[in-house]
Parts: sequence; C-alpha cells; structure tokens
Amino acid sequence: MNGPVKRKSPVISTRLAFLLFFTLFYWGVHFISGKSNLQLSQIVFNMFAGVFTGAIIHVAMAKFFGPLLFGRGFCGWVCWNASLFELLPIRKVKKRIPEKHFMYKYVVLIIALVVPGFFIAAGYSFLSPEAQFKWLLTENALIYLVGTVLALFLGDRRAFCKYLCPAGALMTLTSPKSVLKIEKNHLSCSRCRRCEEVCPMDVPIMEYITAGQRVSHPECILCTECVNNCPKNCLTVGIGKKSDATPEFGKSF
Ligand code: SF4
Ligand code: SF4
Ligand code: SF4
Repeated sequence: MNGPVKRKSPVISTRLAFLLFFTLFYWGVHFISGKSNLQLSQIVFNMFAGVFTGAIIHVAMAKFFGPLLFGRGFCGWVCWNASLFELLPIRKVKKRIPEKHFMYKYVVLIIALVVPGFFIAAGYSFLSPEAQFKWLLTENALIYLVGTVLALFLGDRRAFCKYLCPAGALMTLTSPKSVLKIEKNHLSCSRCRRCEEVCPMDVPIMEYITAGQRVSHPECILCTECVNNCPKNCLTVGIGKKSDATPEFGKSF
C-alpha cells in the first residue's frame, strides 16, 4: 500500500458532521454556562466530597451502561476529542501495533483515577465550577496534544483511542455485550478484507464473520466504516443474536 487507506467520502462526512456537531455543542455549553467537568477524573473529587451527581451520572450512563446498548458508538459518533483526531491531515501509512499494546489504556485509567487523589491529599477539592473548568481544559489540552503527536507519529488518527484513552478502557468492560453490533447479512463476502483495511480500530472483522459471529470486539466503535466500504454490502449494524454463517464465500446472490 502506498498511502493512507482511502474511505468513501460521504460516510466520512456524515459521521464527521456528528462528531463536529457534538464537539461544538459540548464546548459551547461549557463555555456559555455549566463549566462543570463531567469527565472520569471529576468522579474522584465528587465522591470524596459526597457528591453523587454530574460526572458520576455522565460516566455511568455514557461509558458503562450505555455501551451495553450502543457499544462504543460514543467513540465513533460523539466524542469531542475524536473529532479533532479525525480531522488531522495524516499523510503516512498507518503503523499497526500488536494488540497487546491496547493494554496501556488500562494503566492510564488507573492513573486517571489516582492523580485526583494526590490533589485531594494536597488540599485541592476541584468542586467549584471555575476549578472544574480549569481541570477540564487542562485535561483535554493534554489529550489533544498527546493524541495528535501519537496520531502523526503512527499515521493513525485513532492511536490515542486504542492505546491510551482511559474512557475507552472503561467502555471496553461492557461494550462487547452491546445489543448493537456489526454483523454479516445474507449477502456473500468475497474475503477482499477491505473492511479490515478501513477499520480505524484494527478490529479483526473477518475472524468474526468467518465464524458466523457478530463483531463483539471491545475496540469496535460502531463507526460503520466497514459497513459503508464493503463492496459486497454484506455487513450491517444489527441487533440480532447471531451473524449470518458464511459457508457461501464467493457465491453471488
Ligand atoms: S477512545 Fe477516548 S478519545 Fe477515543 S473516541 Fe473514545 S472516549 Fe474519545
Ligand atoms: S465483509 Fe465485505 S469488505 Fe469485508 S472481506 Fe467481505 S466483502 Fe470484503
Ligand atoms: S469493526 Fe467496523 S464499525 Fe467497528 S470500528 Fe471497525 S470499521 Fe468501525
């Protein structure tokens, strides 16, 4: 392959439109009114202060229980960090790193929960709206910086999501049980592997569909790039219990 994988543009623009809309909405709401931090780190500050609203509800719904229904659709369609990563002008071929390195993000998840503890021990509470906003801006600036450097270095817009994101790590605990999943329909697959080429999360899609299983990989973000780039139109997002078994590889319907 001589350059980055090219995907069908209408698909990219529809999903990017969602990502950009939610990014503008998210930052707009924070700058105009709320200024509260709804991210993972705030849970520690809130729990220490006995506050069980805001961040705890957001993280529980969007990052733990929500993925039981929508998988990691949040990552594919909503995340305000991912929208920036997806806009990066990547010009090099993606460097794929073995899947065992996906484990780093679980270490980052622990760090993300421990660091606020140090601040609490040092006497900082981060409970006022202004303090929460400062933390939010600092944390997101760091995510954007690290994610951008990693993406440009590896030629992979979703490198941060795969290797380092603590929220992504949390979602992988429940997303494999998601009701919505990628699955194969009744049409024939030609084994061209185009779906795997365009998958931003390096999901081994063929392993699942060859085994007649729905794609329950924890890194699937339900972006539907595989669905929309399959030349045989044999992938879909479904709520079924089982993917179509595929003994009919190569036949046409
Ligand atoms: S893995 Fe993290 S940065 Fe990537 S889309 Fe999901 S929440 Fe956002
Ligand atoms: S599912 Fe579609 S894109 Fe993937 S190998 Fe089969 S025909 Fe190709
Ligand atoms: S398997 Fe398909 S929907 Fe899931 S991340 Fe890969 S391309 Fe996106």
